[in-house]
Amino acid sequence: MKSGCRTKRANLYACILAAISIGYPEAAQCQVSAAMRAQDFGINAAIGLVTATAWSIVRGHGLTGGFKSGVIGGVAMAAGRQVAATAFNGSGLLGREVSAAGISLITSTGSDHFAMSFPVGPVRIQFSNGEGIDWRVNAFDAADAIVNIVGNHTRLDLGLSASSGTFVFRDIRDTFTTGGTTSVEAIGEEELGNIKLARDAFYAPGAPHALYHENVHVLQDDYFSETVANPLERAILTRLHVSKRITRHIDLGVLSSELELIGNSSIHYPARPWEREAYALTPQHDY
Ligand SMILES: [Zn+2]
Repeated sequence: MKSGCRTKRANLYACILAAISIGYPEAAQCQVSAAMRAQDFGINAAIGLVTATAWSIVRGHGLTGGFKSGVIGGVAMAAGRQVAATAFNGSGLLGREVSAAGISLITSTGSDHFAMSFPVGPVRIQFSNGEGIDWRVNAFDAADAIVNIVGNHTRLDLGLSASSGTFVFRDIRDTFTTGGTTSVEAIGEEELGNIKLARDAFYAPGAPHALYHENVHVLQDDYFSETVANPLERAILTRLHVSKRITRHIDLGVLSSELELIGNSSIHYPARPWEREAYALTPQHDY
């Protein structure tokens, strides 16, 4: 659920799939190598394939029904993350929407309705064949954004938010302490889809380098919540007979948050696959 930019940080984000712990050596070179990019594409294609196959099985289309959508979706996710990790204005937003197209392919596997879902902050705009335009909001993510908007230590940076496609907050302190059971000092974190950057993240002119690392985490979060956690949560709420008038436009986002906490407490920071990917895609930044 959280993720940060200093290796001493320990309390963080979670995405999933132990399968992705393969690969991603320490990022020591200055630019992302072609081999690293290819590896990232391969790993995400595998993740897309596994996830789409699960959707295919759940919807009664068997083991092979998710092959094409899974591989193409995973490749789009990797392309989005590599764009979001690149230092240019708007990279986070562009990468997030490219990744969202891939995620939509995966979640549409085996469904009669092909739905494209494009995120902006905690809101998702959905385009579905036969059902037109719709929207959803992640309640937990939105609440976290509101807490930061009214918080004493944070202020919203509209320019960086537009660039990243989600809320980016500046913390007025040099560093801040992350929450949770293993609090540590950090200069940046991604939590519940929102990015927070401390003053020490702005040591260089222009956009802070830590931003691009956190952009990657936002997209990882999108993948996990959209393909796994939120659909599971909706199914649970339906079983509990929670009114569809509530769930039609709202994802609570509680299950995603809890599963990510479990992931973070289970895996040591440097070994977390989501951290290894974020560092591997931003090796030019010294943060
Ligand atoms: Zn991180």
